Amino acid sequence: MTTGTCLCGTVRYEIDGPFSFMGHCHCSMCRKAHGATFVTWTAAPRSGFRWLSGADNIDQYASSPAGQRSFCRTCGSVTPIFTEDSVIAPAGNLEGDPGIRPQMHMFAGSLAPWHTITDGLPQHAEYPPEFGMSSVERPAVEAQPGITPSSCLCGAIAWEVEGPPLMMYHCHCSRCRRGRSAAFATNAFYKLDRFRWLRGSELTQAFKLPEAQFFTQEFCRVCGSPTPRVMEKFNRVMLPAGAMDADPGAPANAHVCVASMAPWDAISDELPQFPEMPPRG
Ligand SMILES: [Zn+2]
Ligand SMILES: [Zn+2]
Ligand SMILES: [Zn+2]
Repeated sequence: MTTGTCLCGTVRYEIDGPFSFMGHCHCSMCRKAHGATFVTWTAAPRSGFRWLSGADNIDQYASSPAGQRSFCRTCGSVTPIFTEDSVIAPAGNLEGDPGIRPQMHMFAGSLAPWHTITDGLPQHAEYPPEFGMSSVERPAVEAQPGITPSSCLCGAIAWEVEGPPLMMYHCHCSRCRRGRSAAFATNAFYKLDRFRWLRGSELTQAFKLPEAQFFTQEFCRVCGSPTPRVMEKFNRVMLPAGAMDADPGAPANAHVCVASMAPWDAISDELPQFPEMPPRG
């Protein structure tokens, strides 16, 4: 039996295995909804799923005529969705080892512009044919030289930054995994004067983890997507890289907190790895 939890702990559930599927999705909708480079999904029989708490604290967002996204209203973590006989749960929220490993990459045709797949898993440009599903048309975003536009999944909140990030890293800590409902969070840091809200900043909601000194997740109230975290005191903004609609012009610098990596995750690229958060330089 595997339990799952959102970042704030309000939404909890358990899933009796066996898990039948684990795969990475690179579609732009998953990237925005989770603010992550890609999202790792699992599937298991619906009959073995139980809510333990917080089922009434979940908001839904219809991301397409057929697609529902659901998230914890308090912290923005993505929560499970259901088909007729399966539960589809984000692996980032599972505690312990679900006993299954990633089997494939989906929507490798929609890869984040700064990302490269370096493992040997099979790649599908969209859904694998056996899913019998068709992809959803997404609005095209106009590119402007030197500017990286971003938006949440519902589009109500948008922002842009100028130039490359000061730093961008993949964080594997358990808070980032729960908060982003993904293997890791990818965050890009900019000086505040490089950042502009374009619309909707009044729709963001913040959840500060009570036991943490700094850890705060900001998200869109409408669709749950992670949104920028403005840190006036440090003259910095932290951006969820998954929301970016263009290449910020620099690759990620490192993997951090790899000592807390999920048991089902593996790093196959050549980026530097730090067991914890590296000291501020
Ligand atoms: Zn929560
Ligand atoms: Zn997806
Ligand atoms: Zn939104």
